[in-house]
Amino acid sequence: MLVCCDLHTHSSCSDGSLSPADLAQAAAAKGVRYWALTDHDTVDGLREGAEAAARLGIVMIPGVEISVEDYENRPFHLLGLGIDAENPLLKSLCRRQTEKRRRRFLEICARLNHRGIGIDGQKLIESFRGAPGRVLIARTLVADKTVRSIEEAFAAYLGNSSGNALPFEKPDLDEAVRTIHEAGGLAFAAHPLSLNLNWDRTEIFLKEIRDRGVDGVEVAHSGSTVTRQRYVEAIARRLNLLISGGSDFHGEGKPQAVLGRLSNGKPIPLSFLPDLLKEKSCQENGKKV
Ligand code: AMP
Ligand code: ZN
Ligand code: FE
Ligand code: FE
Repeated sequence: MLVCCDLHTHSSCSDGSLSPADLAQAAAAKGVRYWALTDHDTVDGLREGAEAAARLGIVMIPGVEISVEDYENRPFHLLGLGIDAENPLLKSLCRRQTEKRRRRFLEICARLNHRGIGIDGQKLIESFRGAPGRVLIARTLVADKTVRSIEEAFAAYLGNSSGNALPFEKPDLDEAVRTIHEAGGLAFAAHPLSLNLNWDRTEIFLKEIRDRGVDGVEVAHSGSTVTRQRYVEAIARRLNLLISGGSDFHGEGKPQAVLGRLSNGKPIPLSFLPDLLKEKSCQENGKKV
């Protein structure tokens, strides 16, 4: 099997369906040799992920996906890769964001209950480890047969126009970048095409955030065609940004994102793994580069 990488995945510590250990196992089975666990706003799964990766003989790159302040009213996610999960500043930012997400989660559940949907947010959250998101509610609505799919849950109850996609306060870009750097990591703009800017404005956006300290951009992503990917890559090279690639795998409910694969089904090549991250993660895992 061709060796590949995947620098963007979610476990059940945010809104993925697999535990960190099961995710590591699934990644190894797909030929992923370099795997980053990048849960939303939490590092809670990294220890379990690292232990499983070590058992399986693959290299885990510790990561996080921080929701930062919107850019021109569009959700903006920043990936921190190669971070130290024990860094106090990073842990404190994640703890704050997790707390806000938990309050928001309960508030969304209360609103749904107002509409006659019986969902016990408190009970759900008590058994939940990590930072909860809307997908957890969507999964619950599928499980109790209120809707047939996650898509339907978003269309009917949780999408941005539903009135239930409650905002929560997010760190600004400067704080997020500073925190990732303080924790020894590199900061990458996640899935830049999901901001839906035209090409000129995508380049302006990437230049602006590079000038504010962002190190790289996620060029390969399962939500982007390989042709569009090439345009982003050309911009990244013009701006001297590092390049990364990941599937944004969430497990069940997001079948278009396949672990270790590009949108065309091919393995994500190691050219999407920056040398710096490769060297650092190999050293930390006691492996030859
Ligand atoms: P949250 O972080 O709680 O605001 O949830 C955002 C996440 O919800 C995104 O990262 C997506 O994975 C997921 N999401 C947003 N819109 C949809 C949708 N229409 N269908 C399925 N998943 C969605
Ligand atoms: Zn997610
Ligand atoms: Fe994201
Ligand atoms: Fe993601």
